[in-house]
Amino acid sequence: MSRVGVMAKQDYYATLGVARDAKADDLKKAYRKLAMKFHPDRNPGDAQAEARFKEVNEAYDVLKDDQKRAAYDRFGHAAFENGGPGAGGFAGGAGLGDIFDQMFGEFMGGRGRSRGPRAGADIRAAVEIDLAEAFAGTKVQLRVPTRVACEACNGTGSETKERSSDTCGTCHGAGKVRAQQGFFLIERTCPTCGGSGRVIRNPCRICAGAGTVQRERSLQVAIPAGIEDGTRIRMAAEGEAGGPNAVPGDLYVHVAIRPHQIFQRDGANIFCRVPLRMTQAALGGEVEVPAIDGSKARVKIPPGTQSGEQFRLRGKGFSVLRSAQRGDMFIQVAVETPQQLTRRQRELLEEFEAEARGHAKGSPESEGFFAKVREFFENGGR
Ligand SMILES: [Zn+2]
Ligand SMILES: [Zn+2]
Repeated sequence: MSRVGVMAKQDYYATLGVARDAKADDLKKAYRKLAMKFHPDRNPGDAQAEARFKEVNEAYDVLKDDQKRAAYDRFGHAAFENGGPGAGGFAGGAGLGDIFDQMFGEFMGGRGRSRGPRAGADIRAAVEIDLAEAFAGTKVQLRVPTRVACEACNGTGSETKERSSDTCGTCHGAGKVRAQQGFFLIERTCPTCGGSGRVIRNPCRICAGAGTVQRERSLQVAIPAGIEDGTRIRMAAEGEAGGPNAVPGDLYVHVAIRPHQIFQRDGANIFCRVPLRMTQAALGGEVEVPAIDGSKARVKIPPGTQSGEQFRLRGKGFSVLRSAQRGDMFIQVAVETPQQLTRRQRELLEEFEAEARGHAKGSPESEGFFAKVREFFENGGR
């Protein structure tokens, strides 16, 4: 062992901050806590943390082993110096990473979550559909310029079959670089390795080591029935490919609905304005109206229907998203005054008008209004 300053070496129990009679579980707990705290991944470039990390590992390596612990309890550090009873057990730091990886992997879900390769970028795309398509749901074929995994290297970024890489020279494997900016120490993703901490030894000639290439991708977007204008659909992992081992980004599709010629939509309800001839409105009857699902519906118009009156057709609206319910369709009638009368029409209407003057009940709103006008003049214009 080449360790110097042995005399000043801290007691293993003190290093882990546990009592001398600590149970195996307590040792493990204390070790994990400290190992997490001083792990080089979390303290890039911090020599003191690295030294503590080694101490913690050394202490735990001895104390977790019943035999070594017994030797340590009897002889102290001397147990492992110069061929002492426990010598040869702990190799002064070699293989530490392996031990640590095994332990760390258990409770961190693998190492390097805080660094590691950058995820691929998200993509935004937009589609425009008809109201009828929004009603029924549809599939839209999208072509998006994106980055996909490089076919030449299978996304590894490496020219050789095995992906061999070196520790990044810029960040020394940390994946992050620090720069002093005024009073602040700014930490950002390493520009050389993109945060992975490694650089490819033999970069692929096609993608220059990026692992991804620019392509136009064609993909299908399923648009659910009942979708609202302005909805954003997220397609997980359909964004740009990341570098080697990185997760792809997501694709966000913005859905706009083209205005319809005859239907207006309000949530699950549909509105349709239907013109009515004056005589149809007066006599009543039936009109045929189109529905958003492509069918036809008949609406009964009662005699004496006024302009602006609404009729509801239940269940003829939009389907409500994630339910079997459907909204309603509202038919709003607009009574149309005839223009360019034929001579016969004119005669009939003049005759009609003569008849109407003597029949106050036939036009209650007019009658009410003119009664108020008469009152107004009788009161001297008040
Ligand atoms: Zn490649
Ligand atoms: Zn780097």
